[in-house]
Amino acid sequence: MQIRPYSESDEAAVAALWRKVFPGAPAWNHPETDIQRKLSIQRELFLVALADGELVGTAMGGYDGHRGWVYYVAVSRRYRRRGIGTALMKRVEEGLLRLGCPKINLQVRASNQEVVAFYEQLGYEIEERVSMGKRLMALDESLNLLTRFHLEPQTGTAFTVRQDQIIRIIDVEGEQVSDLVCFAQQDMEEYLSSGHTIDYNGKIHLSTGDVLYSNRSNPMLTILTDRVGKHNFLYAPCSQEMFRLTYGVTEAHPNCLDNLVSNLEPFGVKASQISTAFNVFMNIVLSEAGEITIQPPLSGAGDWIDLRAEMDLVVGVTACSTGACNNYRCTSIDVEIYAGGPES
Ligand SMILES: [Zn+2]
Repeated sequence: MQIRPYSESDEAAVAALWRKVFPGAPAWNHPETDIQRKLSIQRELFLVALADGELVGTAMGGYDGHRGWVYYVAVSRRYRRRGIGTALMKRVEEGLLRLGCPKINLQVRASNQEVVAFYEQLGYEIEERVSMGKRLMALDESLNLLTRFHLEPQTGTAFTVRQDQIIRIIDVEGEQVSDLVCFAQQDMEEYLSSGHTIDYNGKIHLSTGDVLYSNRSNPMLTILTDRVGKHNFLYAPCSQEMFRLTYGVTEAHPNCLDNLVSNLEPFGVKASQISTAFNVFMNIVLSEAGEITIQPPLSGAGDWIDLRAEMDLVVGVTACSTGACNNYRCTSIDVEIYAGGPES
């Protein structure tokens, strides 16, 4: 028997196991959605157990800074009473302890005496509490919205998306640029290309309906909806060197390149692989002579752009750190990932 962190290729087996082990689960517990959601937060605490080359167990942990929680502890019926559930729980407990988590809570249906006995034998005690809960999303929203990232000013993030999922980039306060780069999950040497995109669209300002292409001329992203209408694909992400050359800055300055590199590194992306970024919300004006003037973005608070992934992607996004293109006020960016389907 082997226990290891969940990997993307486990999805079908995990979803099938959960549907078997939790047959009466409410619609809220939608395996594929719950898996995608977990991959954005402490994914290292999402574990699977393998036996005889088959996926036979799962456990999902999480630490909120006060307590740890455990969900989806499941073992295939044929493989029960072999210590697999116990081993999974031990690994989750170790992972939570490593994060400094002092206590674990979990919920079991009151009627499920067998499972209560399982946890009691692992040292869990029934506590006299009333379990309370509140839904923050309607069911259809919960199924569609997979993940939300909040980018503080002058920061970045990176994540994976599947083909047909939708990336929504939201300008939270208005007049804020966001740089986006992406790579094909299948082969990270395929990346979003400015030259190809400008070539095939025949224009510099990109908006609704435009397709963003890779260096191999494959569609990577399609702009589905655009509340702003003006974005370009001309500039490299701002960098320490840019601040030095353009503004004479000598001390360390937050910048999009460093934010992309540090967030994309765990996905295997190197600094040398990042060139021109898709400059979301960036507002440039071209003179007839071809000179470029950078103006404040046209985006107001809450404006967004939706990009549909045309292949499985690794994506990096920033809240840009520069003065000029953000009207001299660096603010935050939100990123939401939707499962696809009808767009909201
Ligand atoms: Zn920047």
